[in-house]
Amino acid sequence: MKLIGLIGGMSWESSAEYYRIVNAAVRDRLGGQHSARVLLYSVDFAEVEQMQHDSRWSDAAALIADAAARLERGGAELLLLCTNTMHCVLPDIEAGFGVPLLHIADAAGRAITAAGLRRIGLLGTRFTMEGAFYRERLQQRFGLDVVIPDEAERASIHRIIYDELCRGQIREPSRDAYRQVMRRMVEQEGVEGFVLGCTEIPLLIGSDDVPWPLFDTTRLHAEWAVEEALATPAG
Ligand code: GLU
Repeated sequence: MKLIGLIGGMSWESSAEYYRIVNAAVRDRLGGQHSARVLLYSVDFAEVEQMQHDSRWSDAAALIADAAARLERGGAELLLLCTNTMHCVLPDIEAGFGVPLLHIADAAGRAITAAGLRRIGLLGTRFTMEGAFYRERLQQRFGLDVVIPDEAERASIHRIIYDELCRGQIREPSRDAYRQVMRRMVEQEGVEGFVLGCTEIPLLIGSDDVPWPLFDTTRLHAEWAVEEALATPAG
């Protein structure tokens, strides 16, 4: 089993889910007392959040590159960056990685394609919804039509992620707000399902809360890592 390196802490609320899911997935696959071989490097999210909101993306890229290097030095054979948003800095740094990194948008794209859907709503931080890095990857690699919420909806979704979900606050009015956005996108824009394109959103919304197909990037990403970790012999 390969050693999975998690670049976490963005926020730790979702990194805890990654840790739980990779371990549960290994137990499901191998049974008994089996659990995942994992290294977690967890950053101080206050620093990252400040860099994001000040548009200091090269500082953010350096921080992620440093985290990846630490995990590689620790023996990680496979890397996951446990946040959708921070994948925006990868193009500048991933050539320097010595081990493979599984891109979170590919985790979503694989599952959406397997489910046979084509027109998909993308929910995430403002950076993920509005930037090209995520939408274009889904469009170009998987042939998907990617629809994002309107401006006011994006502001609300983004605010709930940072002010509530990343602080461990799960609130019913916020769940309702997400539901309303999703309903409008289905009814008015013909969206067939949703990428939960922020690793904290699954803490708020799950398949018991809405009738539409959901693609939970935290779960899909973590389970894909386990598939890879078990598919190839340790190096
Ligand atoms: N975890 C979130 C994501 O998946 C948001 C926090 C961050 O900006 O890293 O995008």
